Amino acid sequence: METHSQVVDRLRSVFCSGITIPEEFRRAQLTKLMSMIKENEEVILNALHKDLSKPKFEAALAELDIVTNDLHYAINNFSSWMKPEYVGTNLATKLDTCFVRREPLGVVLIIGPWNYPLQLLLLPLVGAIAAGNCVVLKPSELSPATGSLLAELVPKYLSQDCYAVVCGAAEETKALLQNRFDHIFYTGSQTVARSILQAASVHLTPVTLELGGKCPCFIQGRVDIAAAARRLVWSKFFNAGQSCVAPDYVLCSQSTRDALLPELRQALEDFYTKDPQKCPDLCRIVSPRHWTRLIELLKKTRGKVVIGGESNEEDKYIAPTVVVDVAEDDALMEEEIFGPILPILTVESLQEGIDLINRKERPLALYVFSDESSIVNTVLEKTKSGGFCSNDGIVHMTLPTLPFGGIGASGCGSYHGRYSFETFSHRRACMLRGWGLERLNALRYPPYSEDKLSWLRWTTSPKSCSIM
Ligand code: NAD
Repeated sequence: METHSQVVDRLRSVFCSGITIPEEFRRAQLTKLMSMIKENEEVILNALHKDLSKPKFEAALAELDIVTNDLHYAINNFSSWMKPEYVGTNLATKLDTCFVRREPLGVVLIIGPWNYPLQLLLLPLVGAIAAGNCVVLKPSELSPATGSLLAELVPKYLSQDCYAVVCGAAEETKALLQNRFDHIFYTGSQTVARSILQAASVHLTPVTLELGGKCPCFIQGRVDIAAAARRLVWSKFFNAGQSCVAPDYVLCSQSTRDALLPELRQALEDFYTKDPQKCPDLCRIVSPRHWTRLIELLKKTRGKVVIGGESNEEDKYIAPTVVVDVAEDDALMEEEIFGPILPILTVESLQEGIDLINRKERPLALYVFSDESSIVNTVLEKTKSGGFCSNDGIVHMTLPTLPFGGIGASGCGSYHGRYSFETFSHRRACMLRGWGLERLNALRYPPYSEDKLSWLRWTTSPKSCSIM
């Protein structure tokens, strides 16, 4: 059995051999990754069900299709992303060839969480392969069925020389992180991100951090309240609220809240029946520890549970729960909820809602439900977040054409589609110079003079391009 450092050393020497560079190699690996997902759909769905009781419908959409769509997009486009990007020059460099070359970073580490255990390892992997890197994948120990399935399937389909899966919990990950990687792509909690940054600082390794936070859902002005309730319930309780982009809390006026509550009740009953515990379409909480954390939050809140609240420890079940009269300093507002509990806070004006959002850390996603475009635009203008979606939740992250990532405490860097390729590429600035225009070049050589300086300034200014 290889040690971590042997795995990393082996991948590094393979990377240095240049095997991952040709377009055909990358295309073949991406195509095999597609086959891996297609040919093993059933076992993947079973593993996800074992880990989280994830409904097949949710797993097909949010674990399989999101990856295969990104794969299709990458396979169809990465050869154009690989091409050198020629850039403008000035008079002093007019005869030179100047371009940006996308080069692979080397051996990269991708660390995944448990909530979408397949998607959040394979989506970054698509970009890492397309960009020509060797990759170590580290699945979460809290989704062991999916983690060990990936450890079995990846070497069967992808080049074992270039890609490896290393399983383990915090201690193994810390040991793995002692090795030098050329990039670390981490998805998970803000707390662990601090350890990742510390480990990365030892080797000055660049990182992408895909973190979480509290995503607000601001309902304001005129709005189709029944449709808003259905979209809110779907995006909140999908994966039992264990989504980094799930609406974390609702902000709305008291009258909107009063109109919203019966619609939320109706939508919950329509989606998950009167007895959600028996409904196969509702996911479970990942572990007893996470279940206890959520139950503790419900015990601590000073808000009033108006929908749900039931739970069952053995089944790791918590009913879709709505809490009202929640204050800004309530326990439910201290940390990311990451479970099926939806607090509603009341604010009486657009500005009051915007101020509340801006007092908190910058969220990964921000949602505004309103029929009034001026309200949507004002919130968009006056707030900051990783992503933004009006009149729905989660959906913005399904497009490979939009970057996905956080800002501030919700993360740094982004991926999906071309953005993944860019994340795992170095943009190398290249200038291929000839021997011409030596008299012009001589302007920079000593002995210096005022005359030479003013000519040189002119030949290197952007204005000098326009006369050529
Ligand atoms: P986590 O940070 O506990 O674990 C993520 C990974 O880090 C796992 O592979 C785990 O083994 C490893 N790990 C745990 N402790 C470690 C340590 N001390 N040192 C090194 N590695 C360690 O996160 P989680 O609980 O799996 O995921 C939940 C969090 O992830 C939430 O905050 C959620 O918002 C966030 N998240 C973000 C995104 C995103 O795309 N931005 C997606 C999903 C989840």
